[in-house]
Amino acid sequence: MSSIGSTERPLRVAVVGSGPSAFYAVEALYKNTEHVRVDMFERLPTPFGLVRGGVAPDHHKIKSVTRVYERIASDPRFAYFGNVTIGRDITVSELRGFYDAVLFACGAESDRRLGIPGEDLPGSHTATAFVGWYNGHPDYRDQHFDLSGETAVIVGQGNVAVDVCRILAKTPDELRETDIADYALDALAESRIRDIYMVGRRGPVQAKFTQPELREMGELAECDPVVYPAELEIDPRSQAELEAPSNKTSAKNLAVLEGFVERGSGSKRKRFHILFLRSPVELKGAERLQSVVLERNRLEGQPFALKATGTGLTEELHCDIFFRSVGYRGTPLPDVPFDEHWGVFPNEKGRILDNHTPVPGLYAAGWIKRGPSGIIGTNKPDSVETVKSLLEDMPDLPPCPRPDSEAVAQLLASRGVRVVTFDDWHRLDQLEIERGKPKGKPRDKFTTAEAMLAALDEGPVPVSPCEEPTHAVP
Ligand code: NAP
Repeated sequence: MSSIGSTERPLRVAVVGSGPSAFYAVEALYKNTEHVRVDMFERLPTPFGLVRGGVAPDHHKIKSVTRVYERIASDPRFAYFGNVTIGRDITVSELRGFYDAVLFACGAESDRRLGIPGEDLPGSHTATAFVGWYNGHPDYRDQHFDLSGETAVIVGQGNVAVDVCRILAKTPDELRETDIADYALDALAESRIRDIYMVGRRGPVQAKFTQPELREMGELAECDPVVYPAELEIDPRSQAELEAPSNKTSAKNLAVLEGFVERGSGSKRKRFHILFLRSPVELKGAERLQSVVLERNRLEGQPFALKATGTGLTEELHCDIFFRSVGYRGTPLPDVPFDEHWGVFPNEKGRILDNHTPVPGLYAAGWIKRGPSGIIGTNKPDSVETVKSLLEDMPDLPPCPRPDSEAVAQLLASRGVRVVTFDDWHRLDQLEIERGKPKGKPRDKFTTAEAMLAALDEGPVPVSPCEEPTHAVP
């Protein structure tokens, strides 16, 4: 029998997921081995993961990275199996019968919890759900966010928290010509939110947001940033962090924050308040959320490992809608080892480990490998590392018994799965762009799998989101 990775028997890899880490893994495979075939599996009909469903609609330029992914997908050694849920439509064990290696690049789809009383009160939400909702993600398009109150509190100070604050702070005109879901634009146009609080458990030096995103909060049409001088008092250990040559972000952030202090409280309709050294300890309300209790923190430990510790001093902040934006979390898959504590697939350089031992043929890349950190570009070296491990292992990988993609397609068809190909995606892409034109939007997204499949199989469906079917079909 020919060895895998040869002309006669190309290496067969199933990539699970279609976001940046998935495409960078495919690119690394194509660059480093000639005789390879990659089939990419994605549970939604549409590709590109968080670039489509996570990157904020008003950050359109960032989304142009999909051109790179389109180029990778144009390789004749690539096939796309969209609308296929691994673990439901086909199991991981079954996949291993058709592929020599399965590389999971399925991201971190869930979110971390705060573990405080009242966290599940109506009015308390996750940033994950809000981001998915305004981006027209099928999983979240039916969520409801009551924006009839005046005060929103967002806990967490990463760039996702800033995205949530910015979308709440922008006027409809600032969002209209983006690919924001129409229903979200309508709901935001009716929003009565005036005060937006972004609350961090540590200080300004430890905040995870970055300067361009923070600066943008000072350039909004109808919202002023508000920072009180006391918020920027810096303890000696934070000062040491600030002055460390390796720290490239804190000083830039601090300069923007100091600029916000100098501006005073402003006169625009909305205010974006930034609070540091506070943790939510309880969400209060009878039938729905009414306030959040914040405990004042102090920092303890060594520079770059400073931890927030409660002081016992609390304050209660009125709150009509609350978002926790404290990080994403991976979700387990049957037949794949999972680290419950970190919410990742345990791995060493991308080789998935079971009890510290690599499982032959199983690999991970991206957030499911390293946790939810880094920008889009961070995924490139991460995926390259995983592919290097995979190719090092190739001579010893047990060849799969059925190296046949057509058989995979037939199996899925026999189970009633309507596989969406990359050509199908190109048709959906064109339809979305066409639907967006009369509205001045770069695209008007389909927001349910059912609407996407109907558009592919029966021609375009009605444009109005309220006319779109709301249930995804398998
Ligand atoms: P993140 O950057 O890790 O921020 C998470 C925030 O949650 C931190 O402020 C963290 O504080 C806080 N936090 C965690 N647990 C908490 C708790 N129990 N109580 C209170 N606060 C808590 O994560 P993210 O904002 O979800 O973003 C994920 C990644 O995507 C990041 O790498 C981000 O840069 C990237 N991203 C980039 C962009 C962009 O480039 N425009 C946009 C969106 C996202 P501590 O620091 O104290 O842990």
